[in-house]
Amino acid sequence: MREIKNFINSEFRASESGKTFDDLNPATGQVIARVHEAGKAEVDEAVAAARDALTGPWGYMPSDERMALLHRIADGINARFDEFLEAECLDTGKPMSLASKIDIPRGAANFKIFADLVKNVPTESFMLDTPDGAGALNYSQRKPKGVIAVVCPWNLPLLLMTWKVGPALACGNTVIVKPSEETPATTSLLAEVMNEVGMPPGVFNVVNGFGPDSAGAFLTAHSGVDGVTFTGETRTGSAIMKACADGIRQISFELGGKNPGIVFADCDLDKAIEGTLRSVFANCGQVCLGTERMYIERSIFDEFVTRLKLGAEKLQPGRWNDAATNIGPLISAEHRDKVLGYFDKARTDGAQVVTGGGAFELEDDLAGGYWVQPTIWTGLDDNAAVVREEIFGPCCHVRPFDDEAEVIALANDTRYGLAAAVWTENLTRAHRVAGQINAGIVWVNSWFLRDLRTPFGGMKHSGIGREGGVHSFEFYTEMKNICIKL
Ligand code: NAD
Repeated sequence: MREIKNFINSEFRASESGKTFDDLNPATGQVIARVHEAGKAEVDEAVAAARDALTGPWGYMPSDERMALLHRIADGINARFDEFLEAECLDTGKPMSLASKIDIPRGAANFKIFADLVKNVPTESFMLDTPDGAGALNYSQRKPKGVIAVVCPWNLPLLLMTWKVGPALACGNTVIVKPSEETPATTSLLAEVMNEVGMPPGVFNVVNGFGPDSAGAFLTAHSGVDGVTFTGETRTGSAIMKACADGIRQISFELGGKNPGIVFADCDLDKAIEGTLRSVFANCGQVCLGTERMYIERSIFDEFVTRLKLGAEKLQPGRWNDAATNIGPLISAEHRDKVLGYFDKARTDGAQVVTGGGAFELEDDLAGGYWVQPTIWTGLDDNAAVVREEIFGPCCHVRPFDDEAEVIALANDTRYGLAAAVWTENLTRAHRVAGQINAGIVWVNSWFLRDLRTPFGGMKHSGIGREGGVHSFEFYTEMKNICIKL
């Protein structure tokens, strides 16, 4: 049985308390690894190691050397691509067709992108007039924030973790990662890569465990942590925000969503169907940017629903390494039960089930996995639970609309504000509608198309702060001004 240990000061350490927990393959329900849980003692040691590293060789490393090291990390991931791919697919159940194109390559690229960016981002400078006429020169510098806690979800484990670790290290911070208890494998592999490339001790640390009363809570409440960057549920974000209030420690949050998709009759319907099938069902609906509310202009409503149903019914569940598989399982039995609970709720609320609505019955070892059917509903009230709450499953409600103002109001009628997709070939309408939707990203005629230089984050309950490009540096650095009287 594979053991996944904590990684502190460049050493893999067994749990001091002896506590371990099982890492399951959600496609089968079988145990694939035993994970060592970090208690308070290990979190203390990880924080102490990360603090020491700030003033060690890492703190004095010339930036060119630091950036070269980050490039070597990316190369190190790519050199072990197949191992990372298998670990990610076994932990999440996601098909390799997805993880080989998105999770692993993007996970590696996050180190190079931010290394290159740091070198090229200027700071500001101002000349100030003074009464004596000599003036003063102001210039600003960016300094690392310090020790950063990185608390991660399970849906894109490597990608979302390195999306934070990349810029944090590029800016000269040290990190302690708390991977999701569901998906610790690729973070542990990354720790091996850190040692392979010669990362100084204490710069990258990993503590495994759960949230409340475990590694997550111990880490986010730790006074030696200078900032917490978190991706996960809005409710968890609220708990972490409270923990960070003590000590006034800063936070960066990427939280939940309940994203709308809007399809106008003047769209290219082939594109809209193809894009919506991805935005609803990719990663079995476990994508924060995914679409769970579809609004379709009435004149094309029936045709849209018929074609979406046909596409959903073609999705093929199966093993991660089967080239024909294009939909995986949900992450856990608990999450499956939650999603199936919403399927029941939709029915009792009076939904018309267009397709799906239950679990997949698969054979052999896959029978023990957490499979649910791609599901489409129509006919629900705008206040129904499945229209308002984030489900994080392969499902959407589809509703007709009659005019633009109505659909903009519907799209914005949510406590979330992460993403939206708009489908129209009318350029003026595209700009007009995109500008009025309250979401961190609005896609027009696309979905999940990401330029990593752009700001990424959520409005309202979907997040605090922006990541991506120079925006990541707002959180990972402290900007200071130096004023020189001439
Ligand atoms: P989660 O909030 O349950 O867990 C995320 C992490 O927080 C895990 O590592 C968990 O152990 C830890 N945690 C839980 N309680 C904690 C506590 N009290 N203190 C400290 N740590 C704690 O989220 P999840 O189920 O892993 O991920 C799914 C959620 O993440 C969805 O809501 C999804 O929308 C959101 N998400 C958002 C984005 C985004 O960019 N906005 C991206 C991916 C996922």
